[in-house]
Amino acid sequence: MHYKSITVPATKTLALVAHDHKKADLLGWCKQHLQQLQPHKFYATGTTGKLIEAETGLPINKLISGPLGGDQQIGALITEGKIDILIFFWDPLAAQPHDPDVKALLRLAAVWNIPVACNQSTADLIVTSSLFAGSSSRMAPDYERYLAER
Ligand code: PGA
Repeated sequence: MHYKSITVPATKTLALVAHDHKKADLLGWCKQHLQQLQPHKFYATGTTGKLIEAETGLPINKLISGPLGGDQQIGALITEGKIDILIFFWDPLAAQPHDPDVKALLRLAAVWNIPVACNQSTADLIVTSSLFAGSSSRMAPDYERYLAER
């Protein structure tokens, strides 16, 4: 796969997902970093988004609940270049009925070279990075070249 440099805007679009036992952690993280998060845009799976919007006031584009397809919706948005950062607090201590969707989402984030935080300490590093505050660039698959060469 060939990659090309793309611009990541200063106002970023974050996708937020937390499994049930991790929702309190993600909510706490959003509250802790509310000031840094406020200028940005958000998508979230249904239940995560409802909780965070109600408790923080951040406007969230709420997708379908994860087990009903929300993880796949976020994956699709990643392929369309509409997500800059994925904050995904998945639960390593509980089996999920939608485990294939969880793996698929993490795979697409890796394919498209999206920064992913799977826990609070990584999310802290992302939100406090100098790359978070301003515009930056990152490498992404060069889809036009991929198509042209097939
Ligand atoms: P939820 O989905 O926010 O609707 O609970 C999260 C998930 O399990 O993927």
